[in-house]
Amino acid sequence: MNIKKIVVVGAGTMGSGIAQTAAASGCDVALMDVDQQRAAAAVGLIRNRLENRVTTGRISAKGKELVLSRITTIPGLEGCGDADLVIEAASEKDSVKQAIFRQLDAIAPSSAIFASNTSAISITRLAAATTRPERFIGLHFMNPAHVMKLVEIIPGLGTGPEIVTSVFALCEKMGKQPVVVADAPGFVANRLLMPAVNEAIQALQEGIASREDIDLVMKLGAGHPMGPLELADFIGLDVCLQILETLHRELGEKFRPCPLLRTMVDGGKLGRKNGEGFYDYR
Ligand code: NAD
Repeated sequence: MNIKKIVVVGAGTMGSGIAQTAAASGCDVALMDVDQQRAAAAVGLIRNRLENRVTTGRISAKGKELVLSRITTIPGLEGCGDADLVIEAASEKDSVKQAIFRQLDAIAPSSAIFASNTSAISITRLAAATTRPERFIGLHFMNPAHVMKLVEIIPGLGTGPEIVTSVFALCEKMGKQPVVVADAPGFVANRLLMPAVNEAIQALQEGIASREDIDLVMKLGAGHPMGPLELADFIGLDVCLQILETLHRELGEKFRPCPLLRTMVDGGKLGRKNGEGFYDYR
């Protein structure tokens, strides 16, 4: 299946990067968010990033305009009537995602593929909210989606092999390296990453080292480009907590979210996206 028209639902951290990547690969993209201001802000962010690429000589001014011309915003899911693929990148909550897919199922053409960018939730369970589990798949882009090469492709129990082939080809067209992984909590990336983030927060809570030193140890000692606390701020502390809650529920005690993480989220410190997390970005 040739995927030309993509709708991205959720225009936050991930939605804006996915929309940019899809448009840069030649697809027409419609971006939708319950908060219409976020959709407009995402387009502004994409424009800034592309302008930066023009300044640094990585694309031409004409190239920038071409990519932007392929991106529109739509006020609601009703605009999905001509979608080949819908990529859901809304909040990491089962109930939110299931409600979106239930609604989409009634609106999008029966030929449309549904994908979720969930970090940890079962693809099979999300697919069950629709009447098309054979056309439902996990497409887990990494953050920032317009930069990072990896995409985890997660077939659910009922996903048809031709859908895996179609989205694999699309990811390659986007310049990504897709890896097909099984539908297990957190897939591979977050199954490995989140315990490290959680343990770093635990170490901070126990006073084992300062936030800077915890990050420095992992940057210089393990060659990570970002320390785990910086990474948690980058991902979003609310998203980290939601992922860990899923892993804890599904896989047991070793994934229990650290109390300090919960306190930070309760206190509205969500990381970079709202200016303060383990570090101050204001
Ligand atoms: P975010 O909080 O930055 O953005 C989520 C967006 O979804 C918000 O703009 C919100 O208004 C919107 N939204 C909420 N309910 C909606 C609805 N019913 N319809 C349409 N839009 C709705 O979150 P994010 O970090 O972009 O994460 C989005 C998804 O991507 C989550 O499933 C997350 O687990 C996953 N993900 C996140 C990262 C990361 O590093 N942040 C990486 C990979 C995957």
